[in-house]
Amino acid sequence: GFTPASRIAAIGVSKILQIGARAAAMKKDGLPVIILGAGEPDFDTPDNVKAAAKAAIDRGETKYTALDGTPELKKAISEKFRRENDVDYALDEITVATGAKQILFNAFMATIDPGDEVIIPTPYWTSYSDIVEICGGVPVLIPCDAEAGFRLKAEQLERAITPKTRWVLFNSPSNPSGAAYGEANYRPLLDVLLRHPHVWLMVDDMYEHIVYDGFRFVTPVAIEPRLKSRALTINGVSKAYAMTGWRIGYAGGPKALIKAMAVIQSQATSCPSSVSQAASVEALTGPQDFLKDRQASFKHRRDLVVSALNAIPGLACRTPEGAFYTFAGCAGVIGKVTPKGRRIEADSDFTDYLLEDAHVAVVPGSAFGLSPYFRISYATSEAELTEALKRIADACAKLA
Ligand code: PLP
Repeated sequence: GFTPASRIAAIGVSKILQIGARAAAMKKDGLPVIILGAGEPDFDTPDNVKAAAKAAIDRGETKYTALDGTPELKKAISEKFRRENDVDYALDEITVATGAKQILFNAFMATIDPGDEVIIPTPYWTSYSDIVEICGGVPVLIPCDAEAGFRLKAEQLERAITPKTRWVLFNSPSNPSGAAYGEANYRPLLDVLLRHPHVWLMVDDMYEHIVYDGFRFVTPVAIEPRLKSRALTINGVSKAYAMTGWRIGYAGGPKALIKAMAVIQSQATSCPSSVSQAASVEALTGPQDFLKDRQASFKHRRDLVVSALNAIPGLACRTPEGAFYTFAGCAGVIGKVTPKGRRIEADSDFTDYLLEDAHVAVVPGSAFGLSPYFRISYATSEAELTEALKRIADACAKLA
């Protein structure tokens, strides 16, 4: 029989993908399932970006490119970092990969020795801990609940650091919580890092452009330039430009780290897609005003979902600063019994109940390391959201 390598023996296919597959199968069977599980905008890639890709194909840009990004794209990224983040990264301090996911993979593969620890504030995007484990590292998961605004506190970080700590990883705005760190939230954490020079800082700024209520996004290296020599600032075009399928992510960091990451990439993918890189140049240098319209539309949906959730007895939802997710507490439904007589013991029982009885697919907090919560992705139409929230309310009212 087949046995997998030990490095993946304990790792399953992402829970999020499993739920998505189950919901899609139910839908195919004719059930009116509403899927609030997807991690991608429902908008289309902008037309100017599509046109740039077509033009690149016609120019013959269909061959291998430079290993970790074309000079044109690196230049566009360098300018983006300067313009939007007030951070200077030279071209040899920038790397481009097949999605931010590959950036994470390259970075951990290039830096983690067996037993090295990575501090991950929890709830976290599932891939973080799985990638660390695949690379032989140890994810150190620190719970940050709704009362803490889903944010790590300086004391927690201080306590979690050991001689084996290699990285601490921040994701603001966060998938799954939507919580974001403003400058005042980051400052004490960065002060802790200044006192521990062996710890490197990884930040995932993927949802930078999806923030609400005047929240001022800031990336840690801009706040504390003294950390720049041991920080990796990750970003990408997937979420802001609705380009998840183009698979382009990028990062800025110290030259030596960027070079080490290129070693991994050279034996994994050789380079990111040439056409997608040309499209990404246009995304980063072309008109940016549509971002504001999309933000306004996401904010409308966020408000709709948060107020509907908070009107349901047993659920409680903090208002997120960004991204397109809510992470609602469901402590009030734990211990209740469904009409079919099943007791809800855990958040995954609640999300199973919602899928089976209300035909609404959401993801349990356990998939992100923190319970009892569940994640709704509101990157879907207001009509679907309204109907889904009505079904969730009805389903909760039927619990005894
Ligand atoms: N970072 C976060 C926080 C995400 O939620 C995602 C996608 O879900 C990614 C990174 C991956 O993005 P990419 O499509 O660039 O691999």
